[in-house]
Order: sequence, then structure tokens, then C-alpha cells
Amino acid sequence: VVDKEKPGSVAKIKVVVRKRPLNKKEIAKKEEDVITIEQHTNSLTVHETKLKVDLTEFVEKHEFVFDSVLDEDVSNDQVYRETVEPIIPAIFQRTKATCFAYGQTGNGKTYTMQPLPLRASQDILRLMNHTYRNQGLQLFVSFFEIYGGKLFDLLSDRRKLCMREDGKQQVCIVGLQEYRVSYVETIRELIERGNASRSTGTTGANEESSRSHAILQLAIKRLADDNQQKHKKRSADNGESKPARVVGKISFIDLAGSERGADTTDNDKQTRIEGAEINKSLLALKECIRALDNDQLHIPFRGSKLTEVLRDSFIGNSRTVMISCISPSSGSCEHTLNTLRYADRVK
Ligand code: ADP
Ligand code: MG
Repeated sequence: VVDKEKPGSVAKIKVVVRKRPLNKKEIAKKEEDVITIEQHTNSLTVHETKLKVDLTEFVEKHEFVFDSVLDEDVSNDQVYRETVEPIIPAIFQRTKATCFAYGQTGNGKTYTMQPLPLRASQDILRLMNHTYRNQGLQLFVSFFEIYGGKLFDLLSDRRKLCMREDGKQQVCIVGLQEYRVSYVETIRELIERGNASRSTGTTGANEESSRSHAILQLAIKRLADDNQQKHKKRSADNGESKPARVVGKISFIDLAGSERGADTTDNDKQTRIEGAEINKSLLALKECIRALDNDQLHIPFRGSKLTEVLRDSFIGNSRTVMISCISPSSGSCEHTLNTLRYADRVK
């Protein structure tokens, strides 16, 4: 997507599609790969088999073009280089960036998102330590989950959190634990701890976590001068944050499974409520990104908890990457088309 107002400037929104390989289950069911990708034109075609009235089969082709299309042989490292790496310098210059993984459960959202914050923090710490201009900057990590419209801190035993907004359109999540970190190893430990805290019910981890949005934020802050002195005395890598100015940040969001938004007619009341909330948040997200891309003054944050929490990432200097994760399988064709249409609307 090219910024229409300022030719030549960087695009604010990047939409990427990632196709995973066929899995064992799909192969066992003799399902076929129905997605073809042309890397050099960033286009992707879904070959959908349909039935005519006389019950003979025919194939309908649906072609899409995105900013980037990643085939099944693309590594997580390449995904990082294609999506997050180009944004890192901007977050040292007052940019708020967000990177979303969207798609049906089982298509690789978590697989895609998990390594990204670690890679990003490696690059951030390197830039902090080796660039004179970046002296006095600190990196902070927080990790929380939105489940059924409520917020839980994944780095402090799922403590329930609430949200407050100050007069300056700043969103504040009351009680959210932020860790100041100087080493990649510490970040690795925090991410692992957070992942272990994600919603897991009796039905199994993937089942429950598919109903929640997990949000990991890396914030770059400049400590006030007097604080800087105090911080120097503290041992690195655990203290709570002293008031400091946010220079920029990047949020990594492992969204709830897109199929969960359809759970609005389920027999179980709780499932229905969660489904409605997920549906609302995914729609609101799409609307906010579109508004952002069109430079609209009014961004419809209020549509959901997710978009309210991300409010400050949708105003001012912002960059958004949406990674849509799809299955190649003939059995998922309908879901895949829904995911691609969602991504196409965002684009
Ligand atoms: P989701 O978070 O969307 O529900 P997961 O990330 O848990 O999906 O992925 C489901 C399974 O598929 C996992 O076992 C994961 O390792 C595997 N997988 C997903 N994407 C890929 C990929 N691009 N290459 C190889 N395996 C993948
Ligand atoms: Mg997942």
C-alpha cells in the first residue's frame, strides 16, 4: 500500500499473507493444496472446487494481490525480515507500531508471532547499545491478554487489569507490570512465562487460547535525568518502571481465531458471549486500520476492548503490519477465502 498523500513515503499499513504446509491430518484425509503463490507479483490464487447443478465439478479461481505473499517454505526468520525488521528504526523516532497475526485456529498465528518479539528486541537492544544518539534509552516489556472482553496480565499471575484514559488520549492499563530489560535472555524468559500463563482450559491449550488476544508490547522509553541516576544503582533486569517518556513502541498481537467470531449461536452461553466479543473486536480492528490508512480524523476505537487498548497505536506516527495465516487445504477453502477477504479489506 502506498501512502496516497505523500508519494514516495513509507506505507503505514502492510498486509502480508503466510501459507503454512499441509498438516498430517489434512494429508490423512487426502485433502489437496489449493493455493498457488506467485512470489514476484505478490499474488495468490485459491482454486475452489464447486459443483454445477448437474453435480459435475468445476474449479473457480480467486486471485488476490497483497504487499507480500509468503509461501510454505518461508522461514520465521524471513518472516521477521519481511515484516518487523523494516519498522524497528522508526520506533526510535516516535512511531507506535503494531503487528497482528490473523486467521483460523491451527493456521500458524502463534507459530508466526512467537519468535518476532525476541528477534525485535535483539535488534532494539543492539541499536540502543551501539548508537550514541540512543544513549539513555531503555527497553520495557509487558504482556497481557484480552479474554471475553477482560484484561489479564500474563506476567503477573493473570492479575485482572483495567483500562483508563487520560485527557491526552493516552491509554493506561492500570496495574500492568512492565519489566525493564537489558538482555535478550531476560526477554526470552518473560515471553516463556507469559505464554505459559495464557488461557488454558480443560479442553486443551489451543482450544482456549484461540478465544483470546495476546498482546506483547516492547516500549522504548527515555528516563528522566534524575531517574536515570537512580536506575543506574539498581541491578539490571527486574525493577519496576519509574515515570519515563515513551519514545516509541511495538505491539505484537496474536489474535483470537477468526472462526471464533462465528461462535455467536453456540448453545453454551459463555461461548456465545466470547464469540460476540471476538467478532466485535475483529470487525472494529478492520475498521480502525482502514480509517488509519485513509487518514480519517475519526478512528472508531470504541468498537471493542482490543481497539481501545490499542488506541494510542492508531494515532500519530503509526505503522501496522497484518500477517494473515492460511491453510493450503481444500477442506479449509471457505475459511481461507474469508481470511483473504478480510485482509483484502484492510489493504
Ligand atoms: P494458531 O496459533 O493459528 O492456532 P499454531 O501456530 O498453533 O496455530 O499452528 C498450528 C500447528 O501448525 C503447530 O503445530 C505449528 O507448529 C504448525 N505450523 C503452523 N505454521 C507453520 C509453518 N509455516 N510451517 C510449519 N509448521 C507450521
Ligand atoms: Mg495460537
